[in-house]
Amino acid sequence: MDKIIYLDHAATTKVDERVLNKMLPYFNLSFGNPSSMYTIGRKNKRAIEDARYIVANELNAKTKEIYFTSCGSESDNLALKGVAYANKKKGKHIITSKIEHPAILNTCKTLEKQGYEITYLNVDNKGFVRLDELENSIRNDTILISIMFANNEIGTIQPIEKIGIIAKQNNILFHTDAVQAVGNIKINVEKMGIDLLSMSAHKFYGPKGVGALYVKNGVEFERIQDGGHQEKGKRSGTENVAGIVGLAEALKLANNNLEYNNSKILSNRNYFIEKLKQINENIEINGDLEKRLPGNINITLKEKDSMEVLLKLDEHGICASAGSACSTGDSAPSHVLTSIGLPPEKAFSTLRFSIGKENTKQEIDYVIKVLSNV
Ligand code: PLP
Repeated sequence: MDKIIYLDHAATTKVDERVLNKMLPYFNLSFGNPSSMYTIGRKNKRAIEDARYIVANELNAKTKEIYFTSCGSESDNLALKGVAYANKKKGKHIITSKIEHPAILNTCKTLEKQGYEITYLNVDNKGFVRLDELENSIRNDTILISIMFANNEIGTIQPIEKIGIIAKQNNILFHTDAVQAVGNIKINVEKMGIDLLSMSAHKFYGPKGVGALYVKNGVEFERIQDGGHQEKGKRSGTENVAGIVGLAEALKLANNNLEYNNSKILSNRNYFIEKLKQINENIEINGDLEKRLPGNINITLKEKDSMEVLLKLDEHGICASAGSACSTGDSAPSHVLTSIGLPPEKAFSTLRFSIGKENTKQEIDYVIKVLSNV
């Protein structure tokens, strides 16, 4: 096989052809600045507002509750810092978990330096936060709970609705980093009690460099970037019109085809796991098997260095990951794997495959063949 077998959809996805076609005119035909008064500017403003309508609709939100950003990381920064700065008179305590993405954890580190207090919740051996620990961590000065919807390394899906209820009962805002969930799980912010939600287009067959933040009407948050009036003054900078149009189209397509794609992906995932077990009984699967992103497989191979295995796979055109893409190059073991109780040597022997909508059983057979030689 000389083509690439891409099994790293949690790192990023390729832009869907239909999304690309929607985006292309905004690069060189309809290139006006959306803030300009003339026709090609106004047309692009309209395109952004149409995209906002689509995104709001897909989340069961209102158009005025959607803010476009440059990526998931920016959405996370804006959510946490924005809420922290706007609510500092109410309190300076935030609750999050130990297995969040660095976009959350490093934002929390910055807030700690600015005098905020952060509680990092433990997770159990499948990666779930414990709701009793969450409730016990709530204080009079807690202003925000930020728990990721689904984990980027082990795929575990948190009990979001239950967290939403706890937040509401205690009059605390609830943010969720849904970067891995959007496009894989149908999200209803109203029903799930979510006050703020981050997403990123490149995880669901949209372009890189564009994200969105949902902020429930009435939630106070401050801008973190100074500049012009774009995005109702909350996120300055000339809008990435093509990217925003692409994000909306990708989200609509992902949700319209969710059931079909997920059942195919799930069937391929189960097939992959079965075959893996046939070649090596000692393989351990990390995370929960039920409440898990459909495409995620996270396995520990006994006494194998994951970097060596990845290089071998790469020689055969197979793309997978040793953890999250963002932590590649880190010499420390993954914080997610150590938080679920893996000792460092096992964390260094762990691989993540993330299956996408276009992968086939034939590709999986080939990967299994290569893995069995490794
Ligand atoms: N949050 C999670 C859970 C992620 O998996 C990622 C990216 O992998 C991000 C945030 C950051 O998103 P972006 O790459 O768009 O900045």
